[in-house]
Amino acid sequence: MTAALSTLQSVFGYSAFRPLQETIVQRLIDGHDALVLMPTGGGKSLCYQVPALVRPGCGIIISPLIALMQDQVDALRELGVRAAYLNSSLDPGTAQDIEQSLLRGELDMLYIAPERLVQNRMLALLERARIALFAIDEAHCVSQWGHDFRADYLQLSLLHERFPQIPRIALTATADVRTRQEIVTRLDLGAAEKFIAGFDRPNIRYRIALKQNPRQQLLRFLRNEHPGDAGIVYCLSRRKVDETAHWLQQEGFNALPYHAGLSAGQRSSHQARFLREEAVVVVATIAFGMGIDKPDVRFVAHLDLPKTIEAYYQETGRAGRDGLPANAWMVYGLQDVLKLRQMMDNSEGSAEHKRAEQQRLNAMLGLCEITSCRRQALLNYFGDELPEPCGNCDSCLEPAATWDATEAARKALSAVYRTGQRFGVNHLIEVLRGVESDKIFQFDHHCLPTFGVGRDLDNNQWRSVFRQLVARGYLSVDLERFGALFLQDKCRALLRGEEALELRRDIASKAVRQQTRTA
Ligand code: ADP
Ligand code: ZN
Repeated sequence: MTAALSTLQSVFGYSAFRPLQETIVQRLIDGHDALVLMPTGGGKSLCYQVPALVRPGCGIIISPLIALMQDQVDALRELGVRAAYLNSSLDPGTAQDIEQSLLRGELDMLYIAPERLVQNRMLALLERARIALFAIDEAHCVSQWGHDFRADYLQLSLLHERFPQIPRIALTATADVRTRQEIVTRLDLGAAEKFIAGFDRPNIRYRIALKQNPRQQLLRFLRNEHPGDAGIVYCLSRRKVDETAHWLQQEGFNALPYHAGLSAGQRSSHQARFLREEAVVVVATIAFGMGIDKPDVRFVAHLDLPKTIEAYYQETGRAGRDGLPANAWMVYGLQDVLKLRQMMDNSEGSAEHKRAEQQRLNAMLGLCEITSCRRQALLNYFGDELPEPCGNCDSCLEPAATWDATEAARKALSAVYRTGQRFGVNHLIEVLRGVESDKIFQFDHHCLPTFGVGRDLDNNQWRSVFRQLVARGYLSVDLERFGALFLQDKCRALLRGEEALELRRDIASKAVRQQTRTA
């Protein structure tokens, strides 16, 4: 038996590693770096806890979640692990004691807040201690495009400089391709092996339809498929939550509203009823769901489009935790895009941040529009792979109307290639449609063989083509370069003419496209 497995069994009481955990743990024990992407609940903690115990010295865990440190340390102590934490909540005396135990080699694991770790005094201390590994939890905080950016995380690249011999593991649950690239660059993890897994929720059936008469659509869905079931209906605004809950009550459902505008008492009472009573439908804003652990939520319905694929994945992920069949159902339309865009425009934050939000929204729209398997696209977004279409999403079950976009896609990809993979959609469409703009002349793009080869499609059709190419992983968006599109390996077969491509017919109205101009 390996040291890792015997530690897993004797300390944590589990009989076996989950897939990937074992490989990750072994890589770390052998002294290599790793980047781990797993959804919440996927089992990330053991990936560094086991090697921290197997390797000599103390495992240093950097976590921004000060509130959770104590819980984690308490749980480890219960298991007999010598764990401690250092953050601003400790009085100086206690902190000093912990530092002394670290130096004396009496700690297996030490959790440290990032702002504390990067202080010179702390680093000097660590240099005098024996360290098993560095685990950087919530590694997406290093990304300036994300919602959780923390400046202190940027300084964590110094770990590699000051402790080059000590293996590092960076972990996160939310990282699209761009964020992942940023983690690698900023944390200097170029040599780290990447492990991505566990995002699939096979029992959830994904369905996304165009919004026509949303209330009737929802009613039909609930009556036909979920009589007597518990579920969540997500809406964007508090007012819509109240109205929808009220309307569902009139339709005979045990529906309760939940949003930040209700009193704390109401909120906790509605939450408690959802957990204890049967067949409660909670109508909620995104305020609902954090930390709710109800295994038998049979459906999650979205009456409004979530802002990002991450949000969609998290919210739909509250369905079917018991592993039994569950539905993730959504309708979306023009109004959603308008509203989200408006919220983004009015939000605080830099132009870049807004652009990043816009890109994320576009990726979400891409997921709505694809005709291929939704699950494959969803997993692809997180870097997880599904070799075959899932057979359990609307695209797989009721294939959508499509058109042969092979030629158009090839033209689009070649426009990207010939312009040097550094322009955004708007410019690429000008190239394809032969628009004689200043920018075109500035770059001599009117001389390209691709110039004007795409006059047969209008602006909106081209936008749809590009967005679907991004959604399917033929193209990626480079946020550091203002939304420039660049080719992915996957497009080789298409460019060589070895592959045909069917795209979804425009299902949203023209106006939707105009609202997503920066696609
Ligand atoms: P994450 O940090 O990825 O959100 P955790 O590390 O908290 O996930 O693990 C989620 C749950 O899965 C925990 O209850 C943990 O004890 C359990 N778990 C993780 N790995 C295993 C395993 N190999 N065998 C059994 N349970 C596991
Ligand atoms: Zn599918």
